[in-house]
Amino acid sequence: MSTETFEFQVEARQLLQLMIHSVYSNKDVFLRELVSNASDALDKLRLEKLWDDSLDADVSDLHIDIDVDTDARTLTVQDNGIGMSYEEVGRLIGTIANSGTAKFLQELQEAKDAAGAEGLIGQFGVGFYAGFMVADEVTLVTRRAGESQGTRWTSRGEGTYTLETVDDAPQGTSVTLHLKPADPENQLHDYTSPWKIREIIKRYSDFITWPIRMVVPGPEGSAAAGKSDEASEAEAPEAEAPQAETLNSMKALWARPRGEVTDDEYHELYKHIGHDWRDPLETIRLQAEGTFEYQALLFLPAHAPHDLFARDSKRGVQLYVKRVFIMDDCEALLPPYLRFVKGVVDAADLSLNVSREILQQDRHIEMMRRRLTKKVLSTVKEMMAKDQDRYATFWREFGTVLKEGLVTDPENRDVLLSVASFASTHHDTEPTTLKQYAERMKDGQEDIYYLAGESRQSIENSPHMEAFRDRGIEVLLLTDPVDEVWADAVGEYEGKKLRSVAKGRIDLDAQDEDASDGEREKQTEEYAGLLGWMKEQLDGEVKEVRLSSRLTVSPACVVSDAHDLTPALENMYRAMGQEVPSAKRILELNPDHRLVKGLNQAYNEREDRVALAETAELLHGLAVLAEGGQPKEPARFVKLMADRLERAL
Ligand code: ADP
Repeated sequence: MSTETFEFQVEARQLLQLMIHSVYSNKDVFLRELVSNASDALDKLRLEKLWDDSLDADVSDLHIDIDVDTDARTLTVQDNGIGMSYEEVGRLIGTIANSGTAKFLQELQEAKDAAGAEGLIGQFGVGFYAGFMVADEVTLVTRRAGESQGTRWTSRGEGTYTLETVDDAPQGTSVTLHLKPADPENQLHDYTSPWKIREIIKRYSDFITWPIRMVVPGPEGSAAAGKSDEASEAEAPEAEAPQAETLNSMKALWARPRGEVTDDEYHELYKHIGHDWRDPLETIRLQAEGTFEYQALLFLPAHAPHDLFARDSKRGVQLYVKRVFIMDDCEALLPPYLRFVKGVVDAADLSLNVSREILQQDRHIEMMRRRLTKKVLSTVKEMMAKDQDRYATFWREFGTVLKEGLVTDPENRDVLLSVASFASTHHDTEPTTLKQYAERMKDGQEDIYYLAGESRQSIENSPHMEAFRDRGIEVLLLTDPVDEVWADAVGEYEGKKLRSVAKGRIDLDAQDEDASDGEREKQTEEYAGLLGWMKEQLDGEVKEVRLSSRLTVSPACVVSDAHDLTPALENMYRAMGQEVPSAKRILELNPDHRLVKGLNQAYNEREDRVALAETAELLHGLAVLAEGGQPKEPARFVKLMADRLERAL
């Protein structure tokens, strides 16, 4: 058979380099990754056979074998699962499909020190490639169940791999690692030692639902470390032949009482399901008894995955039926805004070949989803009450996603509002909850104020904030794209309206006992001519020109009408492919500003309105710039401005 040589995709090559020069100190985990892949392959085969009985595959003894050869210094992990076709090997093993990879690698290259890099690797999980931490050559032989020909893949991890077809491959996949010399000082242990392998499997893969077997050497080979305890068995007369020992207990953690399971065991299950190398933030256990029984073991990760906002982001909750794996990424079990939750749900009364479509319509599943959702949210609430730091981590990582629930899940809106926190003018770094905001509201303040924008800094510098800052009225500073949407959809919190400081009329004077109504009326009269004339000049650009009570420093600002979409919202809907008309904005002038006063005077005294019209245009442009927007014709704006500056020299 001819051997073909291929190059790794660029990202895959970079990742391999990292593995070879291993920045990750805990090298033992390579075995967990290989076993995890093997276990997935067995799950897939069992399911495929369930759906298609005619598949020519042996499912009678699905298991994982671990084999070592001390002389050749090889370690082989073999499964008799689904296997891969020639084309699949090239596609799945030669490339990295995960959408976050490019970003990950970039961050990794930017990470200055090994500790930073290690954290990032953990975040990503590198699966199969982890083998290159401990081996200088890896060979994979695989045959897809139902196919007759197999494929051999070999690589030294250095940029190329070879592929060839083989005729005698057994069903499934075997991965053989040609081990580097042991170097315990650098955490590179002797992975031909049965004792070491047993320890790693117990530690990381005990819960795997398929038997993980190791062929224990017969008496001649019993010099291997750690064998002495079981030596009596091995000495039985017929024990000359090697014996296969099952290393894992295969116990479903979710079915065991909490007291019997250690946190470490839960965490290893999380890592297997979540494809994460780090511990989860929180473990949630739920047992439902009665007519529809199920057990759930859910985890809140400690870090958001890179693909949290990608359309194809996957890997949430797995569905089992009576301990048998049914499907990954079961979207019917939790709403989309909890897509970062990982775990297992094991239902007693579902059919083994239940489909996604059926799940979406099933009444029991619907009830289960509601209960699981409430359980996750109440856990967050508890975390908030008991462990501020953990809650803060959670909200920092997942708050943006949870806020989607404020729009899509009215049933849980109240609890979502109670666990949400936001940046606020009250404190430079500490976020606030709505409850805390409400407690701090000033006498006479009826509404909760917020302003949405790109960054805290741009919001704080926005002219809309001036009067609020002046009067010490707290404003929530919202920087996620979803913020304006939920604030609009939710409308109020415990009877207090949520109001954007950049929308509608804001009359903070009305909150003062001695509101100076008289003065405002006088000003309105004084400015009536200018305001009407400016509206004509800027027709097409603004729907109204009026006096402002938001401004103390800036001459002008633009605001949205109370029921119009803001520019950011318009952009968002357009990005989602929806047609929305452009709402005209309102220009507000600060009657106490010298420029505005001067303009009014000039308007009343002068006949030459051409220069004044330019000033009006400039004033509008400045207001748009101040909120982070762009004048309609930037080049013209710059020219007018330059002319003015020149004249002022
Ligand atoms: P991940 O497991 O995170 O997807 P890997 O690099 O470990 O990433 O594996 C890439 C893909 O290769 C897997 O998703 C799977 O489709 C395939 N694969 C790996 N190991 C096996 C195996 N033992 N049997 C069948 N397919 C496998």
